[in-house]
Amino acid sequence: MRIGALEAGGTKMVCATGLESGEILKREVFPTGTPEETMPQMLAFFEREKVEALGIGCFGPIDPDRESPTYGYITSTPKLAWQNYNIVGAFEERLHCPVGFDTDVNAAALGEASFGAAKGLKNSIYMTVGTGIGVGVYSEGRLLHGMMHPEAGHILIKRHPEDPYGGCCPFHKDCLEGLAAGPSIEKRWGRPGALLAGEKKVWEIEAFYIAQACVNYAMILSPERIVLGGGVMKQPVLLPLIREKFTELMAGYLKTSRLADMEHYIVGAALHDDQAVMGCIQLALSCAASGK
Ligand code: ADP
Ligand code: ZN
Repeated sequence: MRIGALEAGGTKMVCATGLESGEILKREVFPTGTPEETMPQMLAFFEREKVEALGIGCFGPIDPDRESPTYGYITSTPKLAWQNYNIVGAFEERLHCPVGFDTDVNAAALGEASFGAAKGLKNSIYMTVGTGIGVGVYSEGRLLHGMMHPEAGHILIKRHPEDPYGGCCPFHKDCLEGLAAGPSIEKRWGRPGALLAGEKKVWEIEAFYIAQACVNYAMILSPERIVLGGGVMKQPVLLPLIREKFTELMAGYLKTSRLADMEHYIVGAALHDDQAVMGCIQLALSCAASGK
């Protein structure tokens, strides 16, 4: 089958074709302009490639509920030109093929669960720590949606006693994203994370926040593995610090063989920034297989 994948981001649109194995064959990137500017380029790409199924992992918020009248729409996004835009409808109308649709972070979670660091497991979590914090939950072999999709980057956590910074989430101020995403690091310390490599306190505080989130996700969702990606995780000191803090905060409460092996419980992303595109390939496959 000729599989199409679209990672629809706020700054760029990654259009690709790939194989059932997740391998990406061809890729073209277009800057995200208005729908009038960008849709014709993407439609032309997928038409040229004669795709027989398409998976879209989209910036949000979106409506992924097939029962809803606004299924397939990008909803209240701050990118005004795309507000209330029926992106799935636009592709279905021109390509006449099954179109799978989910958030960009859910697509990334599906990519890691299908082809990457959580391959073979039925329960995993993917968390990206970048400009924002996004979390995709793969539970009992499928992505968790619930009412819409989890927004687990905005959970409320306790402050580090030595953190001088108040947080920058426009909604909650000191939620996880407000305290631990890339921009909060830069605002707290006056320099971006990439330039703070040797600063012990920076990463101790960062690890404290990410570890708390991982403990909360482990308690609520019981994942078999937690995969961490995004720009901030490029900081090599973080992963061992997060594992250490996680164990400390968990305080021996959950005792499983997986938790006894922290090196394989909290791991880095494995797909080198391709997890969302590869997840879109899987979205397309699942959608075609379900006949929807
Ligand atoms: P996005 O979330 O926009 O898709 P990224 O995942 O690349 O993009 O995350 C960008 C954020 O990651 C920025 O806030 C940047 O400062 C931070 N970042 C990038 N590289 C590093 C690094 N080596 N160490 C710490 N932070 C980094
Ligand atoms: Zn928030």
